[in-house]
Amino acid sequence: MALSPPQHVIIVGAGALGMLTALELHRRGLRVSLVEKGRAGRESSWAGGGILSPILPWNYPEPIWRLSRRSLDLYQALGIELAGRTGVDPELSASGAISLDPQPRAQAFAWCERERLEARPWRGPLYIGGPEQSGVALPWIGHVRNPRLCRALRSHLLQLGVELLEHCAVTGWYMKAGRVVGVRTADGERRADAVVLAAGAWSAQLEASLPVAPVRGQMLLLACEPGRLASIVFRDGRYLIPRRDGRILVGSTVEHGGFDTAVSAQAREELLGFAVEVLGREVAGKVEHHWAGLRPGTRDELPYIGEHPDLPGLFLNTGHYRNGLIMGPASAELLADLMLGRPTRIDAAPYRAERARRRA
Ligand SMILES: Cc1cc2nc3c(=O)[nH]c(=O)nc-3n(C[C@H](O)[C@H](O)[C@H](O)COP(=O)(O)OP(=O)(O)OC[C@H]3O[C@@H](n4cnc5c(N)ncnc54)[C@H](O)[C@@H]3O)c2cc1C
Repeated sequence: MALSPPQHVIIVGAGALGMLTALELHRRGLRVSLVEKGRAGRESSWAGGGILSPILPWNYPEPIWRLSRRSLDLYQALGIELAGRTGVDPELSASGAISLDPQPRAQAFAWCERERLEARPWRGPLYIGGPEQSGVALPWIGHVRNPRLCRALRSHLLQLGVELLEHCAVTGWYMKAGRVVGVRTADGERRADAVVLAAGAWSAQLEASLPVAPVRGQMLLLACEPGRLASIVFRDGRYLIPRRDGRILVGSTVEHGGFDTAVSAQAREELLGFAVEVLGREVAGKVEHHWAGLRPGTRDELPYIGEHPDLPGLFLNTGHYRNGLIMGPASAELLADLMLGRPTRIDAAPYRAERARRRA
């Protein structure tokens, strides 16, 4: 006999994925409790760049793009809802992006044509007085300001009456008749009808069967004057992101080294060197902040979305690696459809956790 859909769900982890999932489930009439070991939205989802596309999306597996494409459609309304309801503008920006990558441009044009997205040859200076450069303009790529998105999501969820327990670490599952129906915390058990694991890079600490591992990314923030850079810039795996107030983010490193969020002088030098090459010597003295975040990395770079194959009642929305912000809204929508037994817009098969077993 099929089980009835859950009415009360506990979500473990209040990063972007946990909060977006909470919002989606609340919209569908479920009671939602978010349990967070620290403060909501202060880990990877705070630290990231917020580019609303995979970097050079034609280089990524198709299932990453499917979630990204759907999220692009969802972000506009989400940005308006969050800014309107909370007064915190997540600064969704349609800046466009310019790829300076020398890789074959025909691939970029062919892919964009297939996806019906604009791509055109670009030539010009990136900033006033800068040298002429050439690349590919991708006007549909924008970005969101992570700390503001997280702050707005947290505030909106509280307004909606979603329960948020901060500084409360989950230590394991509460099981009944072979199903996960709650969580264990230092403060005792909390029960619901189902649990969503959205603990980002820490997910395998709670569920060892999931191969999700932390991948550190370091970022620099440059205090530039407004107007210095108009578009996102991609080159050689690095990027620059212009914020509305003129600040420019420089990203990022990809380091496999455990749960260490220390920053290094070497990364600072490399990132700043890249920024100086693209933006000129004047930006060398503009470093305002340098930080690191832990991406939830998976072996195939795809997230885990859906019910755990061996733990009924435990649902997953984790492992979004480098693209959690752009895949977030569509991942939340997909998981909510799966939890409620509804037809899904996107084929859920590529994101199933069974693939972790096959590769173990
Ligand atoms: C430098 C950098 C740049 C990036 N740039 C981009 C980009 O431009 N575009 C993009 O789309 N993505 C980008 N990403 C990736 C994106 O930020 C992540 O994929 C996304 O934030 C993951 O969200 P999450 O909610 O799964 O994880 P997190 O934001 O890390 O949230 C997980 C939460 O779970 C909590 N938690 C963990 N264990 C427990 C426990 N036992 N009990 C309770 N709570 C727990 C943590 O405290 C945390 O708050 C970037 C990431 C980094 C680090």
